[in-house]
This record gives sequence, C-alpha cells and structure tokens, in this order.
Amino acid sequence: MKSYKICLIEGDGIGHEVIPAARLVLEATGVRLEFVEAQAGWETFERTGTSVPEATLETIKHTDATLFGAATSPTRKVPGFFGAIRYLRRKLDLFANVRPAKHHPVPGSRPRVDLVVVRENTEGLYVEQERSYLDGEIAIADTVITRRASARIGEYAARLAASRPRKQLHVAHKANVLPVTQGLFMNTVLAEAAKFPEVKTQDIIIDNCAMQLVRNPERFDVIVTTNLFGDILSDLTAGLVGGLGIAASGNIGKEHAVFEPVHGSAPDIAGKGIANPTAAILSAAMMLEYLGESTAAQRIERAVDQVLAEGPRTPDLGGSATTLEFAQAVAKAL
Ligand code: ATP
Ligand code: MG
Repeated sequence: MKSYKICLIEGDGIGHEVIPAARLVLEATGVRLEFVEAQAGWETFERTGTSVPEATLETIKHTDATLFGAATSPTRKVPGFFGAIRYLRRKLDLFANVRPAKHHPVPGSRPRVDLVVVRENTEGLYVEQERSYLDGEIAIADTVITRRASARIGEYAARLAASRPRKQLHVAHKANVLPVTQGLFMNTVLAEAAKFPEVKTQDIIIDNCAMQLVRNPERFDVIVTTNLFGDILSDLTAGLVGGLGIAASGNIGKEHAVFEPVHGSAPDIAGKGIANPTAAILSAAMMLEYLGESTAAQRIERAVDQVLAEGPRTPDLGGSATTLEFAQAVAKAL
C-alpha cells in the first residue's frame, strides 16, 4: 500500500480547529499518511518575524502535499509582513487555483450544481504593479498575461474537463474589451483545449458567465479564467452551493500543491470550537484526489454529505455541534 507524507499548517484563528478536525477524518480513511506539522501565517510572523519561515518552505517541498488552515492578514500595513498563501503561490509556482462548487445538503445550496472554477494563479492584475501620478489623481495598475501561463492553465483545465463525465470547458474572458491581454489568454487556452478533442470547449464573456451562473449554474462543468475574474467568480460559485463553511480549494503546481478552505481565520469565532470544518475536510478530500486516492476522496465526500444531511451540524448551519463532534461524526460515517 502506498504511503504519503502530508504537511499540515494550521495557520491562524479557526485554522487551529479545522485542521485537526480534517486530520481526524483523513486518519479514518485508512490511507497511509504521515503528518508533518509546519508553521505559517500572522501568529508565526509575530513570533518569528516572517509569515513563512524557511523551514516551512522546506517541509512543503519535501512532502507529497500540504493542507493549510487559514492565515489572518492585518488590515493595516505592517512592515515586513506578507500574506502566507500568496507567498507560497508565487514561491512554489502554484499556478492553478482550483475551486469546486458542488451541491451539498446545506441551506441555500442550489441542486444539481457540480462545477469547478480554475483560476490562473500567478499573473493578471495580481502582479501587483500599481502606481499613481499627479498627487494621487491618476492611478494605474498593470495586468500581465503570458502565453506560457495561459497555456499551462489551459492545459490543466482541459485535462480536468476530460476527466469529468460531462467533459465541458468554458473559457471566461473579456476579450471584446481587452483584445490584447484577454485575447491572448482566450486564444492560448482555446488552442490548448483543442488538443483534447473529447472536450467540448466554448468561450464565454465573463459578465455573461456571471449571469448564466446565477440563472443556470447546473449547466456548467469546468470554467477557466484569469486571476481577478477567477477570484470573483469562485466566490460567486461558492455562494451558489452554501457559502464559506463548505468551500474547498487547491493551489496546484507542477511539483507541489497546497489545499485550503476558502474561508479565512474567522477571528470572531476562533477559539470557541464551533467552526464548521467541512471546507477543510473537503479540501483534504481534494488533496487525496490529487495524490491519486480517488476512492478515499469520494468516501469522504459521501460521509460529509451524510452528516450534513442527518446532523449533527455546526452552529453556522443551524446546529449545535462542535467542530470536533462534526468531524467525529464524519469519521464514524466513513
Ligand atoms: P480573514 O481576515 O482571516 O479572512 P475574516 O474576518 O475575513 O478573516 P472569514 O474567515 O473570511 O473572516 O469569515 C467571514 C465570516 O464567515 C465570519 O463571520 C466567520 O465567522 C464566518 N466563517 C468563516 N468560516 C467559517 C467556518 N468554517 N465556520 C463557521 N463560520 C465561518
Ligand atoms: Mg475573509
């Protein structure tokens, strides 16, 4: 039986609660996993002066996959501080941000939705090149699109679509207004997708995509888009299936991958033991899928759905279970 080394990073706030909960579920799958703990985030910054110590980077590089809880970002500017996840995305070249939005039996979740947003994770407006002129009267931000990054995200998304039953890919863009940058992205992705003839590929203008997602989300399968559009669209799709408590994600590169719940550190409920660990548990399932343990990943998903449907539920879903009680129920259902 294969065994895997997993880097666990709790991070900040409810990360300290949802990661141990996810670990408990991972251990109940029977997959052979060795856990290595590492530190990152705001609390790490306060303790050590850096939000991602060198030792953490090394641990991530020498394990098979990483599960990350959440990191707090201060709203004020703090000298020397940088966001841990954004740093890891850049440093480890985690070029694909993968966010599934699938129906789960929770309030507000739209039936029959089963889609994935694939967001380009390394460029676009997120190159963070901003400046202002004339005493702040004019501000300019650069957006960078390269053929290389568009091709690899296009290939990733097309391969993902090919592996799914409906084999459908939408390339969401704004090439009608920005033919140079968005046009390069769209054409490059379409060219990559053409190498997968079994995939039905279609381009769609981003604003129309947003409207169609609200009206007929069940029509979509895989959607690939640029960085900022993907940021917005994937929050929209998380909202379609029940919101932050259950939204999972993966940051995937050629050699490394970091999986994390979409929610933040939720300082308002941290330390109370009431955070919903579903998003972290589903992120752990995505991680198993990435490692090639699809059966275990699907078993986790089914167990989560069973507990979400039958209870116990955490307070955000109207229940009174603690984080640990929910995780124990999922482990038992497994
Ligand atoms: P951060 O700066 O780390 O992003 P935040 O204040 O933006 O923190 P989020 O984690 O983004 O907080 O959460 C927004 C809201 O959703 C908060 O009220 C939080 O309590 C709630 N929330 C987020 N995640 C969960 C969860 N897993 N279980 C229950 N409630 C959650
Ligand atoms: Mg937040």
